[in-house]
Order: sequence, then structure tokens, then C-alpha cells
Amino acid sequence: MALLLQFHITTSQPYIKNIIIATAREFGVACEVEYNENILTCKLDHNASDLSEMTKVLEQRLPASLFLKGFGSKTDDLEVQTDASLDLPYPLGLGLCPSCQREMFDVSSRRYYYPFTSCSCCGGGVSFLQKYPFNRANSSMKYVQTCSECDDESRSKGLRENHHLNSCHKCGIPVRLMSKNSERYANDAGSFRTMFEVAAKAINDNKKLLIKTTLGYRLFYKLHKANPNTHIMFVEANKITDYCALITQEYQALLSIERPVLHVALKDETLKEEVGYNTAFVKYPDEGFSILLGAELKKLGIDYVGYEYADESYDADFKMEFDLEIIPQEEMRYFLNKDRSFIASGERVCFPHRINIPSDTLSIAHSLAGVSEEESVIFDRLSRFGDVHPARVHHIGALQKIHEKQFEISEDEASFMSVIVEHELQGAKCVGGYFGNEASFLYYNGKSVVRAVPPNKFNTKTLIEDIKNLRDGSDRLIENLQKQRPEVYARLEALQKNEQANLFEAVAIILDIEEKNYRGLSKVAMRYTGKGGILVDTQVVENKFNYTALIASIISYTLAGVGETILAYSFFESFGDYFSDIMFQIQSKTKAEHFIICGESFGNQSLFSRIERNFKQNPPKMNIALPIGKYNAVVGGAYL
Ligand SMILES: [Zn+2]
Ligand SMILES: [Zn+2]
Repeated sequence: MALLLQFHITTSQPYIKNIIIATAREFGVACEVEYNENILTCKLDHNASDLSEMTKVLEQRLPASLFLKGFGSKTDDLEVQTDASLDLPYPLGLGLCPSCQREMFDVSSRRYYYPFTSCSCCGGGVSFLQKYPFNRANSSMKYVQTCSECDDESRSKGLRENHHLNSCHKCGIPVRLMSKNSERYANDAGSFRTMFEVAAKAINDNKKLLIKTTLGYRLFYKLHKANPNTHIMFVEANKITDYCALITQEYQALLSIERPVLHVALKDETLKEEVGYNTAFVKYPDEGFSILLGAELKKLGIDYVGYEYADESYDADFKMEFDLEIIPQEEMRYFLNKDRSFIASGERVCFPHRINIPSDTLSIAHSLAGVSEEESVIFDRLSRFGDVHPARVHHIGALQKIHEKQFEISEDEASFMSVIVEHELQGAKCVGGYFGNEASFLYYNGKSVVRAVPPNKFNTKTLIEDIKNLRDGSDRLIENLQKQRPEVYARLEALQKNEQANLFEAVAIILDIEEKNYRGLSKVAMRYTGKGGILVDTQVVENKFNYTALIASIISYTLAGVGETILAYSFFESFGDYFSDIMFQIQSKTKAEHFIICGESFGNQSLFSRIERNFKQNPPKMNIALPIGKYNAVVGGAYL
């Protein structure tokens, strides 16, 4: 007899699976695990004497996860004989599992207030990985000699079995806290606890604190006036909803083991004032340093602090550091509304990644590479792989010649392909819309990807002249802009010299928004509370997106006195209509069965809800365990 635990999990990353396997091994319960079509099935030996104890402990150990969507159990006649072992191909950048968190606050544990606490199934171990294969000798932890207790732990069955990066107070990494006139070290329970107490007090005294956390440098401060890079870290879970207007799924996502950053609506007036917007990027403490700092801040009655992603060069009042080298990842931002959710951007949690479809192509994009390993491909930082011998190389962006068969591929095609791979749609016809800095439309005929409407590079050089020549009377539009909004005109003129400028920057300038980029525009759009927007000109002329018409239409609206909030909203909403129009056209010509959207610019509430509305009958497929843009391209690149 077997007890079958079935988990609906939308990622193939092995951490949840490992917690189950580790617990079964610890209790001597034979266990077989299988992952198929998003269902993780764990067969446990029903005759094992400790089965009920094991499942009870498992319940306490399983963390909430963004990817864990459901659970069921049943008994079956199957025999369970083998003992699954932990699947540890690489470490990830996760938050801490419930057991490790408890241990950090248990006075009697060897890891009381120890910020490097982690196990084989959790934590930010990826920061310490230097090269493959994953073991301690190939990580920056090689300089830390484990004590006998940690050795025993790594050899024993349980959550820390084979934990390559295991350490504790006795053998672990000392940390120092420095200010202009003081310096203190922590290397045991007492000194670590005092260090975090002192650090929290410094923040309470309005000092800026730079911490080298296990996931990279972060600058913490008491929030008075946020800048565009400020995120908010809430330290008291029960109070998050006092400050933010969250739907249940958002609250659960914040507390999940992945601990993503979310862009949420605020409801507390003081916080809105401090942030300067009615929305903010927020998160709940993820790794050891942030959790311990949070615990001490909470004791001082502080509910949240501001923080920014920083580097060691930042000149803060206080600096908390340790000596091991780390390779931080870009933070993960998660998007969700009541119906859909996806990873809007970043590489944390998503990478390293393993896809069990073989490929002999070496794919390279944005410092990541996809390298073939037996029947699968591992995607991670290029620098972690040694010599590889691929049949060909696909790369995005410039790359010196390293292979006879080397091809530059495009980001939109590779992103599109990554969705096809994740949904296992190879062989099916798909129509795609890609929205990064530019928009493009793609078609997959079951074999290869073609661009139906290629991206049209936003050309700033002659922007003003182009608008003047758009149609009769357009020159008057520019004259009026120059007269009525001389500062905006001057900024547009200056923008013409910036070849790197993108559409979002130009629109933000015209709307006179403080933060002149996609993020700024998104924040302003999220202020809009009305029903629908107004129509902004989005059109394709000779198979190319017409930027000039779009910019001209926004200028004329602003001159007519239409406010920036509704215009920012309408800009995204019109793009939603534009994407649906063109994708429906391509679909009717090709009879494709599936719609796909990808590209980071879809991670916007106004745009995405429009897409959802327009595609009600056949919702577009998106990335599942990968981010929707940028870093997903390395995966698609291996299979193009
Ligand atoms: Zn853990
Ligand atoms: Zn130790």
C-alpha cells in the first residue's frame, strides 16, 4: 500500500520536492517521487511505522509557495520500495523555510541569530556558487571549515543532508558592523544578537545601514521621503494589510518562500505621503540578515523600512559585512491580479533552471547561458560553466567569435520560444506579441519562429521633425507645445541626442512625469481609478509601428488639458488593444491555435487587464516558472 501525496506545482525547481524527500528519509519512510505535467506525486510507504508522524512534521515544514497551487492525497495498492534521494543540481536564491526560520529564533539552537542559516531546500545559496558541479569546494564557502556537528548534520538524513553550504556559529562566517567611529564583530549567539539590535537602533535613529546580505547589498533606512529606487520592507506580517490594500493572493505571495517584490496599492495616508505615490514596491524579509534586522526593528515598534538594492561602494552611516565573495542576482518581481499571476522580471528563484529537453545549442543572453547536461539543459550564469562543446552557439547581443557556427538571435523571438517550451507547444501553431522596449509580433508554425511584424527601433534623432511632417497641421502642434510647455519641449529636444532613449521615456517626458521611464509611467497609470481610458493613436504603417503618430496624439491630448494619470493609463490600455488587434489578424490568417504574450512591459496592471478583457475566449499563454521577459530569452535561445 502507498499513500499518494499529490501537489499541483507549476515549477520544476526541486525545493518543495526536496523538503518532502528529506522528511521521508529522516523518518525512514520509503518514498518515490515523480513530476509530470505540473503534478508532483510522492508515493509513501503506507506500512512505514512513522508515516503519520512524518506527514505531521511535513505539514509544519512545507512553506507557502507561489508555485504550489493545490494539494490532494489518496491511498493506492502500489508498492513503494526505493528511497528517493535529494535532487540538488544547484542552489537557488530562496527565502528561508519554516524550520530554518524557527531555528534562527531558538535560543537553544546552534544558529540563534545566525544570518547564514539555511538547509538543502532553502536559502540564498546560489550567491555563493562559483562554478559547477555544485559542491562546497566550488563555492566561496570553501574557505569555511565545517565543525563536527555541521559535518554530522550534512551526513544525516533530514533537511540538511548533503547541505554543501552548511555552517553554524561555531564554524561559520563572522560578520562586522562598522560606523565612522565604531566597529564590532559577531561570531556567536550573543554577539550576533547584539549586532542586529545595534543595527536596528541605528535605523531608528535615522542612520542609513548598508548590509551585505546573502542575496546582495541592500541599503536600509527609516522612510521619510522615498526616491524612485525605494522599496518597502514590511517587518510585521500581521500589519501589512494595515498599510496596503491587498487581495488575498498578494498577501500570500509576499509571505511565500520565494518572497518576491510586489507592486501594490497603498492605503495608509502617511505611507502614501512618504512614498509620493498611492502604490509601492514592497516585500517581506527573505534571507537571514533581513529577517533578523526585521525582528529587531519590530521590537522597536517599527512596522516597515525603506530599502534599495545597492553595492559596496555606497557610503552609509553603518555597514554590515562579511568576507566571502557573493554573486547577487536581480530581484524577482511578481505580478498578480485576481485571475492571473506571473514573474514580471528578475532572475532570482528562476535561475539556475533546468529544462528536461535536450539541446546541443549553447545559448547566451544577459550574462546567462544554457549548457547541455545529459538529457537536459542547465541555465545559469555563463561564468559558472567550464569548457563546453556545443554544436552551435545562439547569442543575444554582441559576442566575440567563440564558435564556427555562431548566430546572433533576437530577444523577442527567443522570449517567445521560451513560452512555447514551457507549455510544451512544440509542433503547434502559435501567434505571439512581444513587448519589451519595442513591440513586435511573432508566429510559430510548429517548427520555426518568424516575425510577422518586426520591432521598429524607436528613433529619437528626428522625433520633432517627424511629428511636424506627420500630417497637415502637425507643425502647429509642435509650435503650440513649444509655446505652452517650453520645458517639455526642451526635454524632447534634448532627448533627440540620446540614441538609447525608448518610447516610455519619451511619453513620460511629454506627460511631465517625475520618473522618466517605464516604471514611472506604470506608477502614474496605477493612480487611475476611472472606468476606461481615451484612445491613443497606435497604428502599423508598412508593417511598422508608427511612433510618430502615437507621440503626436499624446502631445495633442496634453495640450488639450488632459491629465497625466488618465493619459498614462490610456497609453497602456491602447497598447493592449493594439496587441489584440494585430494578434487576432495574424491568427485569422494563420489559423494558429494558441496566443502567446511575452516581454517585461506586459507586467503592467493597466495593459494586462486590457489584454485579459480582449482575450477572454482564448487567454494568451505566458511564461510559467520563468520571468516573462529578458532572462527568459536564454531558455528560448537554446531551442530556436
Ligand atoms: Zn531550510
Ligand atoms: Zn558548524
